[in-house]
Amino acid sequence: MKLAQRMKAFKASGIRRMFELAATLQNPVNLSIGQADFDVPDEVKEAAIRSIREGRNGYTVTQGIPELNERIRSSLAERYAYEPEATLVTAGVSGGLLLSFMVLLDPGDEILIPDPYFIMYENLALLAGAVPRSYDTYPDFRITRAGLESAVTPRCKVLVVNSPSNPTGVVHDENELRMVAEFAREHGLFVISDEIYDRFVYDGRFRSLCEFVPDLLLLSGFSKNLGMAGWRVGFAAGPRQLLDVMKTLQQFSFVCAPAPFQHALLSAFDVDLSHHYEEYRRKRDLVYEGIREHYEVVRPDGSFYMFPRVPGGLTDMEFVEEALRANLLVVPGSACSDRGSHFRLSFAASDENLHRGVEILRRIAEVCAAKR
Ligand code: PMP
Repeated sequence: MKLAQRMKAFKASGIRRMFELAATLQNPVNLSIGQADFDVPDEVKEAAIRSIREGRNGYTVTQGIPELNERIRSSLAERYAYEPEATLVTAGVSGGLLLSFMVLLDPGDEILIPDPYFIMYENLALLAGAVPRSYDTYPDFRITRAGLESAVTPRCKVLVVNSPSNPTGVVHDENELRMVAEFAREHGLFVISDEIYDRFVYDGRFRSLCEFVPDLLLLSGFSKNLGMAGWRVGFAAGPRQLLDVMKTLQQFSFVCAPAPFQHALLSAFDVDLSHHYEEYRRKRDLVYEGIREHYEVVRPDGSFYMFPRVPGGLTDMEFVEEALRANLLVVPGSACSDRGSHFRLSFAASDENLHRGVEILRRIAEVCAAKR
């Protein structure tokens, strides 16, 4: 079988490998998961069942049903006083990322992505034939002008920001976002802001980059916020000229986001899930307080990940193997970074598993400390 050369560009996902290994363990403590551990609210499930029964099972218009686009618009206006020229309902935020990268990047173009990063940014840039350039955010995972300056080149066209962040849990503050806006303007960069974790924010009010860069592409969705990662619905909001071409590509690829779920989502905007997000603040505290004396770790103020430093001079892979031997699954930092000095831990898990996980992590750190 002669496969296309472009597939050789992909970097194998360390996260997938973890899933494969997880399958071989007996009742592991799985802190590698990238989705909320709560289920879709009952009324939204009922709405989906009703949509299917009522026969809303055909294609929708490419851009998504008008009522859903309208709800997305009013929610953006209400939350951020942001009124984008156009919106598009996508097949998850992944769909929005794929469409926007393919539409914006020519072979040889360069794109700035944060380090650490969500794994898809790098691979989709490579798929488009572009060159991903990571801007350093270590050690506290804040965006700095120095980090951006040392990564930017004259070939850079797009700047990706992800707040709240996967994998670090950092939420960028107003000062960082203003600096990003200024930097992008100075260098003529088009900004893509991935805000898929925008409801998982624990300390203070979430600031969206759209408040500071009015002509950006905002990507967000429902996978994480509503516990419906398998429903595959997200949205893109931004300049009409870009959204029109993304829509054309959607027409020839995804066609549309799943029809019954688009209809069901109309009932989701009024559902209050703040109790779930409060739960996640508690889970954050449980894990952070449990490991902070044993690990160098930045307290996450959003999403449901943290990104501690590997202790005792181990590499991230050695550490992850050590954890696997203790029946704990975490993700090696090198799966989502140019460096292999950290690991990603997800607190989207039951309290019981979080307690067990903290226990195992403390034990590993103590063993590492004793060996030194
Ligand atoms: N962006 C980030 C930062 C993510 O973590 C994820 C999911 N892990 C996505 C986008 C993709 O989300 P979706 O399921 O909506 O495609």
